Amino acid sequence: MRRPDDSSQAMVAFANVNKFYGNFQALCDVTLSVSAGEVVVLIGASGSGKSTLIRCVNGLETHQDGCVVVDGFTMPTTKDLEFGGEKALHQIRRGVGMVFQQFNLFPHKTVIENIALAPMRVRRKSRQEAETVALRLLDRVGLRDQAQKYPGQLSGGQQQRVAIARSLAMEPHVMLFDEPTSALDPELVGEVLDVMRELRTDGMTMMIVTHEMAFAREVADRVIYMDRGAIVEAGQPGQIFDEPRNERTRSFLSRVLKH
Ligand code: ADP
Ligand code: MG
Repeated sequence: MRRPDDSSQAMVAFANVNKFYGNFQALCDVTLSVSAGEVVVLIGASGSGKSTLIRCVNGLETHQDGCVVVDGFTMPTTKDLEFGGEKALHQIRRGVGMVFQQFNLFPHKTVIENIALAPMRVRRKSRQEAETVALRLLDRVGLRDQAQKYPGQLSGGQQQRVAIARSLAMEPHVMLFDEPTSALDPELVGEVLDVMRELRTDGMTMMIVTHEMAFAREVADRVIYMDRGAIVEAGQPGQIFDEPRNERTRSFLSRVLKH
């Protein structure tokens, strides 16, 4: 599973990955490499395969063909899983955090309990140890004073910051974000993006799906434009936004950037 021969520094590597839902091909020959500390932003129209791609990084979806390596572990394919390839999947999941559009916090647990739960259950940390870490993470996302509240007592932006803290509590090496601000009122988007900016400053490897184009331009080391399951164009934000080479990229950007 660990590949000692893998001398590249890639944290996430896709090689010629194909993914099908039944007969429908959702990822088409995707090749992509994300270095440690790199921030990659995925853009593209709805249905282009952005969620599918990042879900293949933590095994929420599995690919049928090609190779996915995350932090040195080879992701099992759909077929491998039928033959008991789950160990690698669990190992990969331990190192990958994910934040969704919907925050998925436990409504009947307090903020601090939400964050401390997985480290206690999965990592066997004591309550005291897990809650100490949880408080430090709440500090980091600016919510230490909300520790004893329930999710329903917080704004959407605050809940999403708790969800990020909960994910960080598992000490991930890679963080995946799937439209983390899409469910938020516009005035709450900024506080979540601020937390992501800080993670970037701390050197976290991140793959982010977002429609916030100004944010993408600001934080991305690389922007990837997807269409119909394929990576159409990838490059530095300045290149993609100011000098898109592909006609499809140009047409997508002119649609989303015009107001
Ligand atoms: P995006 O995140 O870019 O909107 P998705 O990765 O969610 O795109 O979806 C890519 C394509 O795969 C879409 O056509 C979608 O309808 C299809 N798809 C996604 N999930 C499933 C699924 N579980 N079963 C069947 N088709 C799916
Ligand atoms: Mg999606």
